[in-house]
Amino acid sequence: MYKAIGYAAHAHNAPLVPFKFERRALLPTDVQIEILYCGICHSDIHQVRDEWGGSTFPMVPGHEIVGKVVQIGGAVTEFAVGDSVGVGCMVDSCRVCPDCQEDLEQYCNNAVFTYNSFDKHTGGSNYGGYSNHIIVDKHFVLKVSERLDLAAVAPLLCAGITTYSPLMHWQVGKGDKVGVVGLGGLGHMAVKFAHALGAHVVMFTTTPSKANDAKRLGADEVVISKNAEEMNQHLASFDFILNTVAAPHNLDAYTALLKRDGTLCLVGVPDQPHPSPSVGHLIFKRRAIAGSLIGGIKETQEMLDFCAEHNITSDIEIIPIQQVNEAYERVLKSDVKYRFVIDMASLQDTAEN
Ligand code: NAP
Ligand code: ZN
Ligand code: ZN
Repeated sequence: MYKAIGYAAHAHNAPLVPFKFERRALLPTDVQIEILYCGICHSDIHQVRDEWGGSTFPMVPGHEIVGKVVQIGGAVTEFAVGDSVGVGCMVDSCRVCPDCQEDLEQYCNNAVFTYNSFDKHTGGSNYGGYSNHIIVDKHFVLKVSERLDLAAVAPLLCAGITTYSPLMHWQVGKGDKVGVVGLGGLGHMAVKFAHALGAHVVMFTTTPSKANDAKRLGADEVVISKNAEEMNQHLASFDFILNTVAAPHNLDAYTALLKRDGTLCLVGVPDQPHPSPSVGHLIFKRRAIAGSLIGGIKETQEMLDFCAEHNITSDIEIIPIQQVNEAYERVLKSDVKYRFVIDMASLQDTAEN
């Protein structure tokens, strides 16, 4: 076992505070990673506040992890000490079911998520990336290009793959009109990817002051989604809309904007259901509402390689871990440009106290 230190919530209504715990002993297929940076995903907040139910405490959140390999098990040949690596939302899966065999581990019934998930090695819940190191099976460790800013790479491990994967699955490309709903952590990556893929990108935001940023990030047009007149100008014109909003809202406003056979893909996971969508909107133009969960390990590596090739990273605000609770409050107010990333060197101050 290895001693570790991080920040944990001890109850759904409690702030995150310094926390000492243990990581499992290194298995032959394990990689031990010193964590340099960890992004703050809205899913961390949903789980810390137990908004989805089933949260376990103490909880060390964090699944946008970037760091350096410090130790490898005897069966690891893919990584060496000193390599820059990443870990996203998953740390294990069954490896034999059809989902695993098709490199879609995220859909495996026995997928083990990076924190707040049962860890068979310790017999309790596992702990995530708001910590100084982590031990992960090599299959779930990603290679990260040294050419990119490592802090700005961290959000790619969740916000990046969660938006890249549906754009790939629905084959978004040149000539497509693509909408992105919500300019937050996921939304800003979706705009960058859809733009890089050659689509005509329309950003839907509730925050007019984000319009200039949306254009800088790659949006061709910006629509203030609260303005019905602006929305109506886009009726029945989209091939694909990716909706990243973390709160329940009226989906009809978006299905109405899809062309025949268009898809509205939901990736936001609100704590309450959306109001029931209009069936008429769907059947009259054979439109679909779909969902998508992060992405498999193979595709996550492809996304990281795509980012290295196209020089794509996240727009980030770096914070010391001592500011994590304030950062959560700002995310809840949609006030982040566009992802908070914790500089884990700041944990040193906690370790010394
Ligand atoms: P975020 O940074 O908070 O961004 C969400 C954005 O949605 C906000 O910036 C805001 O954009 C918009 N928004 C917020 N409240 C709204 C409301 N009431 N009505 C309309 N728009 C609203 O969150 P995130 O980290 O990108 O995560 C987004 C959601 O995706 C969360 O629910 C998270 O749990 C989920 N998620 C899912 C997956 C998956 O695999 N499916 C993976 C990661 C995260 P504007 O200011 O532009 O309106
Ligand atoms: Zn996430
Ligand atoms: Zn499986």
